[in-house]
Amino acid sequence: MTDVHPRLLVTTPPKPDESLTGYLVRLSALNHYEKLVWILSMAGLGKGSSNWRWPALAFCPTVELKRLSELLALDLPALDALRYPPAETTGHGMGTHLFFGAPVPRNVIQPQTPKACPECLKESQHCRRIWDFKLVTCCPTHGCLLVDRCTDCGKQLKWYRPAASMCACGFDLRRAPRTSMNDAASRLCDMLCGVCGFPAVPEGEVARGDNPLATLNLEQFVTAVLFISGRMIVHGTMMGGGLPSLSNRETHDLMLRTASIFEGWPDRFYDFLEYERSRPRCRTRAGIMDSQFGNFYGSLFAHARLSHASFDFFRLGFAGYLELCGEGHHVKRMKLSLKYITRYAALRRLGLDQKRLGRFISQGRLKMVTLKGWRGERVLVEAESVEKLREELRRLLGSSEAAKCLGVHRGVILKLVAAGCLKAVRGPSIDGSKGLKFDPRDVENLMRSITNRLPECDPLFKHCPDLRTAVNRFGHPKLGLVRNIKAIVAGKLLPIGSSPEAQSHSPS
Ligand SMILES: [Zn+2]
Ligand SMILES: [Zn+2]
Repeated sequence: MTDVHPRLLVTTPPKPDESLTGYLVRLSALNHYEKLVWILSMAGLGKGSSNWRWPALAFCPTVELKRLSELLALDLPALDALRYPPAETTGHGMGTHLFFGAPVPRNVIQPQTPKACPECLKESQHCRRIWDFKLVTCCPTHGCLLVDRCTDCGKQLKWYRPAASMCACGFDLRRAPRTSMNDAASRLCDMLCGVCGFPAVPEGEVARGDNPLATLNLEQFVTAVLFISGRMIVHGTMMGGGLPSLSNRETHDLMLRTASIFEGWPDRFYDFLEYERSRPRCRTRAGIMDSQFGNFYGSLFAHARLSHASFDFFRLGFAGYLELCGEGHHVKRMKLSLKYITRYAALRRLGLDQKRLGRFISQGRLKMVTLKGWRGERVLVEAESVEKLREELRRLLGSSEAAKCLGVHRGVILKLVAAGCLKAVRGPSIDGSKGLKFDPRDVENLMRSITNRLPECDPLFKHCPDLRTAVNRFGHPKLGLVRNIKAIVAGKLLPIGSSPEAQSHSPS
């Protein structure tokens, strides 16, 4: 490797549904490399870093992929798009990562213990991204159980193997027997894949009925499933604790028990509550519900992850159960829709620190209330305002995304900010957050402030692909892009060929 920028002999772009680790496996095989570690070490990611056994490159944004991108002849953003980056909004090492655009706990993204569908591999020998999803145990296309263990050597599949369709022992995974599945867990898989954006399974095959999961988005779906499944396994938590050590078969069985509760809603949920109530626990807790249902009750009515109104079905189901047991008098004291959550829960939900949370409160964007309870006065945050702010923060654009929207280089964005043409809503000097963040409306307005000055007959008036093209419609392009923009916005530069009279017709 004397070349400064070594490049693989055979390169190919990733398939649209391919996983990062699977892509590396495929490229290694295409180049007839004996071991995948060759590619990793050439990219400076090999032994000595955690990338070998644990594919940290899929999760950690600090793992430098520049050399790998040169090696694969793939531009960095395209390679970066294959990763599962930390979801910024949840911060604080709470371990959620973006998966199909939604923040989900890292425990449910498992590229290091791979699975595969033998039928899919027959169609194309590449690893699908959806197989990295721990909760997806069946193939959404072929309806068969995914394979995570070699039928020949009996060992667990490894992500670093000779080819996507080959076990380390040389067994062709396409020859693995097909185990067709048609149970509640496979239907749950279909629904999950549906919210991940997979083509919907034909109507009738998915038993939705009264299934409360049917109305949830991916993040909420995972939360609801983990809330129930986490109660059924050792070390189970709402963040998917206890899941990584389960085989695909074991996960499938767990999903089967979980899915049947949602399918038979609310009757099977009542059975589940009976089971929760019967579990041995310390009975000396403060409230009667706490002593009977333990932390299940606490989570249901106070956990930040369940504070969204879309989880009210759990609380209403719980109330329905108490009514059925003749204990409806307890329901009166319950807040079936979580109107208020604690300041700490809001802080965790938004992934902010105390200082930044305080700033949003003083701006009035988080509504606070003081409620009198049996423990004295408590200052709480209105749950709805937390969700609203969370949605707003999630929609904000980073510098690169803003640059993409405007069709300019990222450096231009920084210059626009310095020149006062574009205002960041979050940033190191604004609220102490790491990078600059922009309101998508401000970015759009900047573009509109240029294109609105063009005559209406100009095609760019309606749609403009990038800022530079719009600015080029005006005179004096040599001033430089940012100075031109300032001049255009100030009305000092007119579209080429227009007279000052024509200018007066366009909005100013
Ligand atoms: Zn398949
Ligand atoms: Zn094998």
